[in-house]
Amino acid sequence: MKKYLKNIMAGTMVFAMTAALAGCGGSEPAPADNGGEDNAEAAGTLIMATNAEFPPYEFHEGGEIVGIDAEVAAAIAEKLGMEFQIEDMAFDSIIPAVTSGKASFGMAGMTVTEERLQNVDFSDSYATGVQVVIVKEGSAITAVDDLFAEGANNLVGVQTGTTGDIYATGDIEDEGLGTIERFNKGADAVLALTQDKIDCVIIDNEPAKEFVAANEGLVILDTAYAEEDYAICFAKDSELTEQVNGALKELIADGTVQSIIDKYINAE
Ligand code: GLN
Repeated sequence: MKKYLKNIMAGTMVFAMTAALAGCGGSEPAPADNGGEDNAEAAGTLIMATNAEFPPYEFHEGGEIVGIDAEVAAAIAEKLGMEFQIEDMAFDSIIPAVTSGKASFGMAGMTVTEERLQNVDFSDSYATGVQVVIVKEGSAITAVDDLFAEGANNLVGVQTGTTGDIYATGDIEDEGLGTIERFNKGADAVLALTQDKIDCVIIDNEPAKEFVAANEGLVILDTAYAEEDYAICFAKDSELTEQVNGALKELIADGTVQSIIDKYINAE
């Protein structure tokens, strides 16, 4: 069995009930303001950290950042009566931005993993993701297992710090079955594949479909590498976690989240 299977969180509710626990000492005075602390949300603005290179979840269009995450987050801010702002950054800067308080939360098609749970709390999951493998048509790699075959020696493209990077590093590089090439953007990895600089790209299914549609001669392997849950991340013990998760729950229950997903992902 491949190591990556151990990394997959199976649809668990991972929202940490920190606020509920903090409140169990009985009646307490209403929380005072936080004394000028440098909290992103102190001014009534929710700041979302993302990496807008991940269509259809977040991407640039007409000078704006749009996508499923951008719209769900805007709906959450509206429900909470807060202003909303998006900060675009490298994917591996999102968790540091959240833990340092520069951003209120991170939302970036981000997979819930045990490693990330050491540093952040997650909301309920609002979408599922699948790690897939993109190859050139006619590639010698015809199934995911080919990447782990004895004697395999592939150049594997990933986006830095993503679960594709984490799995490929453990399953392929650490096992001496190939070399990982890390890129800042999934699109750059795909470009390198079209130029024959690498043998495949491991990336989430929805952006994979968009990249394959935009480039001739690429295919997604039929077999999935891993299935995952996407959620919003927060600084540990943030007071926002419960508020945002509450709003998210309502938006899932009333169908808003599904209608936003359907707008960007055509059901086939
Ligand atoms: N789902 C992947 C992860 O969380 C990739 C996310 C992304 O590239 N935006 O690592």
